[in-house]
Amino acid sequence: MGINRLDRITKFDAIFFDRDGTINEDLFGYINSLKEFRYFSFSLEALINFSSLTENFFIVTNQSGLETGVIQLENLELINQKIFSDFQKLNLPLKKIYYANSYKEGFDEMRKPGIGMFNIAKNEFGINLKNSLMIGDTYSDMLAGKRLGMKTIFLRTGFGERYLTQVKDENVADLICDNLLTASLEVLSI
Ligand SMILES: [Mg+2]
Repeated sequence: MGINRLDRITKFDAIFFDRDGTINEDLFGYINSLKEFRYFSFSLEALINFSSLTENFFIVTNQSGLETGVIQLENLELINQKIFSDFQKLNLPLKKIYYANSYKEGFDEMRKPGIGMFNIAKNEFGINLKNSLMIGDTYSDMLAGKRLGMKTIFLRTGFGERYLTQVKDENVADLICDNLLTASLEVLSI
């Protein structure tokens, strides 16, 4: 008997996605306009795959450029609106986009690897973080997830190659994948 994808049992309370370098290209380290925001060609297909595993998507993104002035809040909000509308068209269960707007670092801070954004999601939506998944392209993404007992997937897109050695050495990723699509296919096959 084949397994219908739609019948699949929900595996994760939530899936947390980093934004830049994970679902969209990150060529310069920050994005300050809609026209600079480009999904990877495979991202939407990957997100559809992931949506069969959870009812809760979150995006958790460090946007300290808001503090330094290279990013304007109204531009970030336009990008957020676009993401929400694109996700909605595909019935992707995006609940909220959290962004850290400062460079302030610390265990409980919003900026990853601080756990602030995750704790807000946990409280706001009743998420069991230990049964959730974090996906990103930096060491900070992985460390934040591990601090909370989450499952973590590290991607080699974005800044992935730069952090690969550290991620391996410190063993903060449960899975290392070429990109978001291969990650979704690997998780679906588990
Ligand atoms: Mg990133």
